[in-house]
Amino acid sequence: MKDLSSLQLSELQEYIASLDEPAYRAKQIYGWIMKGVGFDGMSNVPKKLIEKITDNGGYIRTANIKKKFVSKDGTIKYLMELFDGELIESVIMSYKHGYTICISTEAGCPMGCAFCASTLGGLKRRLYPSEMLSQIAQAQLDINNRVDGIVLMGIGEPLDNYDNVIKFLKIVGSPDSFNIGYRHISLSTCGVVDKIYDLAKEDLPITLSISLHASTDEQRSAMMPINKRWNIEQLLTACSDYFKTTGRRISFEYSLASGKNDSPNDAHKLISVLKKYCKDMPLHVNLIPINATGRGFSSPEKDNIYTFASILNNAHITATVRRTLGSDINASCGQLRSGEKK
Ligand code: SAH
Repeated sequence: MKDLSSLQLSELQEYIASLDEPAYRAKQIYGWIMKGVGFDGMSNVPKKLIEKITDNGGYIRTANIKKKFVSKDGTIKYLMELFDGELIESVIMSYKHGYTICISTEAGCPMGCAFCASTLGGLKRRLYPSEMLSQIAQAQLDINNRVDGIVLMGIGEPLDNYDNVIKFLKIVGSPDSFNIGYRHISLSTCGVVDKIYDLAKEDLPITLSISLHASTDEQRSAMMPINKRWNIEQLLTACSDYFKTTGRRISFEYSLASGKNDSPNDAHKLISVLKKYCKDMPLHVNLIPINATGRGFSSPEKDNIYTFASILNNAHITATVRRTLGSDINASCGQLRSGEKK
C-alpha cells in the first residue's frame, strides 16, 4: 500500500519508474493530486495506468468537505471528513492581500489545555501529510482561488505529529506542489521543547508561534499540562536558541482570560519573564481574547485587553490584539468538531 498523495514529486517519479511507466506520467498525476483531483478526474492519464497503480496498492488520501459555514466577515469554516470518518476543521480567512488557511494537524489533541475545545476527547490520531495538503486543495477548489498563507493553528499539536508535519511543510513549499512561501507559513505550538530544537535545524524559514498564555509556572501549569513537562524557563530558552539558529522571529500567543491572567500585574510579570530569557530577540506578543468554550474561561472586558497591550507596548514589546474573525460561525478550533460528536 502506498499513499501517493503524501509524496514529494521525486518520490512519485521513483514509484512510477518502478512500474516501468514514463517519467512524465508522474508529473501529470502529481499535478492532479495537488489540485485535489482524484484518480477518476485525471483526464489525461490512461485508465490502464490508473488500474496498474491501484492494483499495486497505490491510493490517494483526501480530506472531504462535509459542512461549510460562511461568516458575515467572509471567514469560511469547513468541517472535513477523513477516510476513516474522523472529523477535522479548516478555516479560510480572507485578507486584503489574499487568502490564508488554518489547517488541522491531528484529529483531536493529546495536550489537554484547560481552555481549549480541540482537546476534549483526547487524540484520535495524527494526520498524514496528504490529509494536511488535501485541506488546502479542497478549500482552494471551493473558493476557486489560490491560498497564499498557512497557519498550523487548527486542531492538534503540530509538534506532536513532527515527522508528518515536516514532510507536509517540505511538500507544500515546493514549486512542484502548492509553492507557498515559507515566510507565509506559521506553526503554533503549546511548547513541545525537544521538537523546537529539532525544528530549528530543519532549515525551513517559517514563523514559529508559541502559545505562552501565562507568565508564571504555577499559572501556566494550571492552564497547560505541557508546562509540567517543560517549564517556562525551558520553553523560552528553546525559543532563544531557535532565534539564534534560524534568525526567524518568534510570535508569542497570549490568550487573555478574565481574572486568570489578564491583570496589569500579569502584564508586568510577562514582560520580565520575556526579557529575562529572550532578551536578544525582537519580542512580539499576539493577545487573543479567550473564546469561551464552556470550560470556565471567559474573555476580559475590552478595556482590560487594551490596558494589557499598552503595558507591553510601553516596555517596547510589540503587542497586537487579534481580530476575532468568524465568531458568528464558531470559527475557533475544535468547536465544530466537538459539537458534531455530541
Ligand atoms: N496546539 C498548537 C496549535 C493550536 S493553535 C498550540 O497550542 O499552539 C490554536 C491557538 O489558539 C493556541 O494558541 C491555543 O492555545 C489557542 N486557543 C485554544 N483554545 C482557545 C480559546 N478557547 N480561546 C482562545 N484561544 C484558544
